[in-house]
Amino acid sequence: MLISPVEFFRTLPKKECPECGQHMEEQAESYLMECDRCLASKDE
Ligand SMILES: [Zn+2]
Repeated sequence: MLISPVEFFRTLPKKECPECGQHMEEQAESYLMECDRCLASKDE
C-alpha cells in the first residue's frame, strides 16, 4: 500500500521548539530548531 506524500508528512513527529515548547509545523527548507516566534525575537 502506497502512502501519499501528504500522508507521509502527516505521520512525521511534530517538532517542538526547545525555547518555548511550542509545536511547530515541519518545514522542509527550515534547518532551524526554534519556532517562528523565538526566531523573530532572536533576530533583533
Ligand atoms: Zn519557540
